[in-house]
Amino acid sequence: MENYQIADSFSLLAKLSDIHGENSFKAKSYATAAFTIEKLPMQLSKTPHGNIFEIKGIGESTGKKIIELLDTGVLKVLEDIIEKTPPGVMELLNIKGIGPKKIATIWKEMEIESVGELLYACKENRLKLYKGFGEKTQHNVIETIEFYLKSKGSFLFSQINLLAEDVKSFFKKIFLINKISFTGAYARQVEIINELQLVIDDTTNNIEKKLSAVSDFELIEKNLHDLLYRAAVGLKIRLYGCDEIPFMQQVFFKNCSDEFGIAFTQQFNLIDFATCETEEAVFKKCTLNYIPACQRESIAIIEKAKQSPLPPLLQTSDIKGIIHSHSNWSDGSFTIEEMANAAKEKGFEYLVISDHSKSAFYANGLSENRIKEQHIYIDELNKQLAPFKIFKSIESDILNDGSLDYSNAILSTFDLVIASIHSNLKMSEEKAMMRLLNAIENPYTTILGHLTGRLLLSRKGYPVDHNKIIDACVANNVVIELNAHPSRLDIDWRHIEYALKKNVLISIDPDAHSLDGLDDIRYGVLVAQKALVNKENNLSSFGLKELEAFLLKKKKN
Ligand SMILES: [Zn+2]
Ligand SMILES: [Zn+2]
Repeated sequence: MENYQIADSFSLLAKLSDIHGENSFKAKSYATAAFTIEKLPMQLSKTPHGNIFEIKGIGESTGKKIIELLDTGVLKVLEDIIEKTPPGVMELLNIKGIGPKKIATIWKEMEIESVGELLYACKENRLKLYKGFGEKTQHNVIETIEFYLKSKGSFLFSQINLLAEDVKSFFKKIFLINKISFTGAYARQVEIINELQLVIDDTTNNIEKKLSAVSDFELIEKNLHDLLYRAAVGLKIRLYGCDEIPFMQQVFFKNCSDEFGIAFTQQFNLIDFATCETEEAVFKKCTLNYIPACQRESIAIIEKAKQSPLPPLLQTSDIKGIIHSHSNWSDGSFTIEEMANAAKEKGFEYLVISDHSKSAFYANGLSENRIKEQHIYIDELNKQLAPFKIFKSIESDILNDGSLDYSNAILSTFDLVIASIHSNLKMSEEKAMMRLLNAIENPYTTILGHLTGRLLLSRKGYPVDHNKIIDACVANNVVIELNAHPSRLDIDWRHIEYALKKNVLISIDPDAHSLDGLDDIRYGVLVAQKALVNKENNLSSFGLKELEAFLLKKKKN
């Protein structure tokens, strides 16, 4: 059991205790335990039981519960309280913006026991009759529930990525067949997956027969050429058979967006798919340069491929350094030294440490004095680590008026500054644009961090006019981050084409808060491939010397 799973159990216990109106001191101590465990630098499962009690912030009773979880996989008090809570009320915990106290009121005073009922009550204007629920809360609850219902049953690409290969080998064993291929959104590396799709070289009937014996798969839809199943954890899996359609034809077309597929068929018909072993062979037959599945989104790419071969896909190995990372000086879990050593071992040439700034008090943001201390420490480390280099940076909060939260004198001490919005995310497009444009115009801003603040499947970003932001970045020589955290992937790849057209640099950054976080780079690369980002237009593909030269030039301007 991993730390985050243990932390999740405590966090759920805290929330349910609040919902049930139990001793608030207890609920608070569960929440504190969750926070402490989440931030631990070592895995509790690998810590000897006796030592668990010695960890700072973990007392006798928390320690016992951790051991119970590690030994039995469950927590009795949590099981009991879940038992007492209607499933619909548990589901309300997924609605961002209504905390446990509000859920308690919704359940006990309004007698609402499900998400659907709550939405109905909001639309009937009933919520605002209760204490603590204004017109604004009611409006926000409607928005969040609609968003929640829309994304229910959807998964992040990274979540599917973890289990996709296992699913495929499972099917290979069941069907005793080697010709199985991923297709659809997953094959096209789209950031949110509603269904995992595979093409199987067997008839739809056979597929159904063979799978009927497997109880983990519930058949929920049956079509002429495909079957939709619901597997464990709510994941939908669509299996395409190959009845009279050749395998490669199924794979090819399911790997295209609708727009691309229609345009392709109009221009290239009568292809003999039965003689094609690979997708490359299909393109060869059309005398069209190869377009990988991840780039089969819009018609424009067909025109591009007609003219010349498409540039090679950006690879994770093309990323030369880690830009945007946090250490335990703010809310990261590891020391700067540990982060730097890990980056060095992975073959990167540099690490940009960009801890949170002073306004981010919840993340232990850096005061002016701590910045000075950190810079002295980084200078020391750099002497030991050369030729590897740690760059001094900060993820400076963009304040309500669009200014950054340090004086120019302090901002000028960094090698580079990442400007991001972390507070007051609920705002109109006008407000968001004012804040962002002001930050972009600040001469100290090097990179604009996670542009919309979205968290995929849980929080819509604030509304922005992407093209106007991109134009402002051109005018002020500001780089736009492609935040590679699998829940962010922000700037959205759909807007990168315009950015590249305008010669704006993109920076694929992991926003790493831990050593594992460094590997998130790959999710950024996968969506960057869709947008045809290459080494030349990605800042984190710059080598150490190139980055130094770039930053020097930026400072002179
Ligand atoms: Zn951030
Ligand atoms: Zn960050």
